[in-house]
Amino acid sequence: MRRAPATGCALCGATWGDYRATVDGVEWSFCCDACARFYDLAVQRTKRETGWASVDRLFLDHVQGNEADGWAQGEGEEVTIHVSGSSDGSELHEYRVLSRSERAPGPRGTR
Ligand SMILES: [Zn+2]
Repeated sequence: MRRAPATGCALCGATWGDYRATVDGVEWSFCCDACARFYDLAVQRTKRETGWASVDRLFLDHVQGNEADGWAQGEGEEVTIHVSGSSDGSELHEYRVLSRSERAPGPRGTR
């Protein structure tokens, strides 16, 4: 099962900032406001694409410029995604689900 780092930005893992924002009723720590905005956009889009009522965790583990590969978990499933967006995080230009699978049973990611 994939794991996001326990510390650092909830979206990208960067540890240089501490910007707090609430997405879907859960408070997360981000490196900056751009990541916070994009996390919200990506979570909303993930719910639309997957039909999940909520997203437990979303993380971008490979960011290159304005494009990124990552994954999201919710309702016992996991998707891998490819996204692109504006550098200030206010727009989601592309969202593709690359794969979708059942999540292996185990401890849930920390919130
Ligand atoms: Zn970040």
